[in-house]
Amino acid sequence: MSFRDIRLFNLAMLAKQGWRLLQEKDSLLYGCFKVKYFPQCSFLEAKDVPNISFVWKSLMAAQLILKKGCCWRVGDGSSIRALQDKWIPNYTMNMILHMPSEVDRELWVCDLINWTCHGWDRERIGNMFHREEAEAIYCIPLSKRHISNSIVWMPKKDGEYSVRSGYHIVRLVQKEMPDCEECSESNTNSPIWSRLWKLRIPNKVKIFGWRAGHKILPTRENLAKRQILKEDTCQLCKLGSESVLNVLWDCVVASDVWAGSLTRLQKSGTGLVSFFNLMEEMMLKLTNEEIELFLVLCWVIWNQWNTIVHGGTLQDPNRLVQRATNLLEEFQDAQV
Ligand SMILES: [Zn+2]
Repeated sequence: MSFRDIRLFNLAMLAKQGWRLLQEKDSLLYGCFKVKYFPQCSFLEAKDVPNISFVWKSLMAAQLILKKGCCWRVGDGSSIRALQDKWIPNYTMNMILHMPSEVDRELWVCDLINWTCHGWDRERIGNMFHREEAEAIYCIPLSKRHISNSIVWMPKKDGEYSVRSGYHIVRLVQKEMPDCEECSESNTNSPIWSRLWKLRIPNKVKIFGWRAGHKILPTRENLAKRQILKEDTCQLCKLGSESVLNVLWDCVVASDVWAGSLTRLQKSGTGLVSFFNLMEEMMLKLTNEEIELFLVLCWVIWNQWNTIVHGGTLQDPNRLVQRATNLLEEFQDAQV
């Protein structure tokens, strides 16, 4: 994978978060974002706001991908706008393309259903829409039971978003994508990321740092959030949830490594809430050379931590610090 491909892949991962904002309306994430960014509409209709949080900006980039691949599955048809929304599967663009001449913009899909026979109101539809569109609408099954409308991901048969299918769409739409943080290497709004991309460290470590800062690493906390695991307690220290911050800063492997590293890298921060938080703090107090070592150490810790979790042996922390130092030196020597 090239660096560009990895950024596109990250975008497909972000779209997964966006998908959760569409599906998991009981989640804490949904509650927080809803109030702040799209109180009046759904995530798919949410608008970008200038000078807003980095996370939200990233999600807006992901929204574009979801818009491409999502379509309504008609339940009772209320809340689906007949003329603006995508709700006609098996039809070009999944939406009405020939605007009827005299029609109310606020036409809802439920207005096109004949509730006495639980079928499409063929007379109304036939009079209003282009023949091809009318035919496509008649093919949409309607339930006799009262079911609510849902959003399905068209590229996959089961209608569920997956990173793999998302990545495919990302590649198709990349040209239309706004120049967001994910798509460009420089980030004007967040000094942390632009500084990260400029560091003299291997690309794999930059990507790792970016992902750690965005909590897109397969820790138990993240897997539990995605409901892949039920338990999120750290497998090694059993002290609290297995977050990125726990693994890279607090947990057994990490604390030994930090204790044996440069004084300025040694644990100072308390009350940190996330690895992003830690990165911010480090970026403030460290020189570029120190941050480079810090990130390579995190990367080594992550690998060592994974080795142990998969049954490997715990290595002497001094050797890990040495390995990180060597790795960095070798990389930088090769750059000259
Ligand atoms: Zn732990």
